[in-house]
Amino acid sequence: MAKTSLIEDAHEVARAVALIELGARMQVLESELSLSRDRLIRLYREVKSESPPKGMLPSSADWYMTWQANIHASLFYNTYSFLKNEGCCSHVDALTKGYRLYKEHCAYGCIEPQLDLTRAWTLVRFFNGGILQLSPCRRCGGKFVGYKHDLPGHKVCAICQPPSRAGKKVRGTEAGASAPAPMLN
Ligand SMILES: [Zn+2]
Repeated sequence: MAKTSLIEDAHEVARAVALIELGARMQVLESELSLSRDRLIRLYREVKSESPPKGMLPSSADWYMTWQANIHASLFYNTYSFLKNEGCCSHVDALTKGYRLYKEHCAYGCIEPQLDLTRAWTLVRFFNGGILQLSPCRRCGGKFVGYKHDLPGHKVCAICQPPSRAGKKVRGTEAGASAPAPMLN
């Protein structure tokens, strides 16, 4: 078996550190990186000064369909797919950079991030698994996360048509509610 080059090994460690800093769980690291589980655990402890948490990962695509989560998921996935397709990033790099940009955008708009890194990673897996896709909103034309079996061209996105209860929540924080809109176009 060919030995991994030291430079490639260093790149993998850097990728692992970046993902751990952004909140990646062990399942995400083990699935995306070629480093051994022992080394990943050691890296995790070094970066976070604690052991990696145990437990199951979220597994339902329905989570991304609630209105706020859908806006956040759409913002992240549009960024991810731009980096991967237009920016020629690898999947791991697009995930890391896309998630970092998503968090920066939330901070800039003073919005609490709804997606953690694990949710962002799971979202990409649902796309790759053919469960989710980006569908254009028939009102604003922005692309948002929807089920693959949804009829195209019939949906209005959560920004154009938030649920009535959303008005109560966002009143007074209007900037937060409308901030992601331009990024989706
Ligand atoms: Zn819309």
